[in-house]
Amino acid sequence: MNTASPSSRIGGFHKLGVAERIERVARFAGLAVDDQVHLSDTGNLPVETADHMIENFVGTMNIPMGVATNLRIDGRDRLVPMATEESSVVAAVCNAARQSYDAGGFITSMSGTRMIAQVQLTGVSDPQHARIRILERLEDIRAMCDACDPVLVKLGGGFRDLEVRVIDTRGGAMVITHIIVDTRDAMGANAVNTMAEKLAPHIAQWTSGRTNLRILSNLADQRLARARCVWPLDAIGGAEVRDAMLSAYHFADADPYRAATHNKGIMNGVSAVVLATGNDTRAVEAGAHAYAARGGRYASLTTWEATASGDLAGAIELPMAVGLVGGATKVHPTARLALKILGVASAEELARIIAAVGLAQNFSALKALATTGIQKGHMALHAQNVAMMAGALGEEIDHVAQALVAQGAVRIDVAEVELGRLRGR
Ligand code: NAD
Repeated sequence: MNTASPSSRIGGFHKLGVAERIERVARFAGLAVDDQVHLSDTGNLPVETADHMIENFVGTMNIPMGVATNLRIDGRDRLVPMATEESSVVAAVCNAARQSYDAGGFITSMSGTRMIAQVQLTGVSDPQHARIRILERLEDIRAMCDACDPVLVKLGGGFRDLEVRVIDTRGGAMVITHIIVDTRDAMGANAVNTMAEKLAPHIAQWTSGRTNLRILSNLADQRLARARCVWPLDAIGGAEVRDAMLSAYHFADADPYRAATHNKGIMNGVSAVVLATGNDTRAVEAGAHAYAARGGRYASLTTWEATASGDLAGAIELPMAVGLVGGATKVHPTARLALKILGVASAEELARIIAAVGLAQNFSALKALATTGIQKGHMALHAQNVAMMAGALGEEIDHVAQALVAQGAVRIDVAEVELGRLRGR
């Protein structure tokens, strides 16, 4: 009997048609016909589109998209699509927004839409001298970068500034050139990477050094989205709640163990909108966490204070490299639709809305944690997932979920008992 495990060395897998790829995976993993049918169903993302988006495409992973209500941002009401697999994320934003709506909602702003690309230079004996030589070439660099992307320049974007830093590393001194580019309504990774690659050989020539990496920085600290909001004391339940929330924030800002979870909650909202609009969640997440550590210690992305009149004032500031063109934003039909629901006219508008969602998410998490605890609300919503895990179908899901919440035991074993009882009836 041949007990050898099947081989993952499949030459030319990418050249196969989608159906053949599914068939090969099925053979490898012992998938049943039903599983293959499931993989073949790509829902509302056409196979041809998906097959051109990534390599070795075999199926789609559908994530629910909800819409956050009650948001009033810069005086305008918005419905915000959020794609997430986690229950209670959408509800949290709706709740926070409801409690701020009558007081005017969120005010947002942005530092600009400028991205940074880095060119790494090594092997120079006089790095300070090399730095000045590169800075002298400002106008040459501007011309070179702008020539890479006439479309961007025509739209009012393009090269904006030059920074050159000498850094000390384990491998000796390095001269790091930053080209700063306004990428307008594009996230801009490809745009600035192209410029950095074009520029690198010239930097090597001007300095007699060796250039190595040429890539954008996800620490997009010249593309900061900001949002602020004041929650009236009576809307949140009084001074005791406010003070408990402030204490929770002080804890997060002082302790990286807590800050990681505090910021994860913020990113629950941020990443859900980033994903729904076809933007790069990893780029935004990397930028947010790097920015949270900019002071040398990982800290909160938000600040919370009591106003002179005793209300609760929250603010957020984080890098927000998102676009309306480029990447999957224009290619994915659901992303296009999400942008239509949002009704945004620029990448800046989108970034600012996302910042408001992050702040709203943080408000709800702090409030729940500082009062009833996160599990009460979360588990009530999670009960439906647990019911489904136990095998509940259709109307059974709500029945079982309600029974779990009523018993205060949102557990799969309890769900199985409830389901059995329901079916035995
Ligand atoms: P892109 O190259 O697909 O589109 C941007 C281009 O569109 C611009 O350069 C410009 O020529 C053109 N354009 C048309 N209308 C425009 C407008 N109104 N404003 C601005 N430009 C306009 O995409 P991109 O935004 O350069 O790159 C985004 C993609 O790069 C994402 O898919 C991301 O995942 C990926 N990426 C990310 C990283 C990273 O984050 N580290 C690295 C590499 C690639």
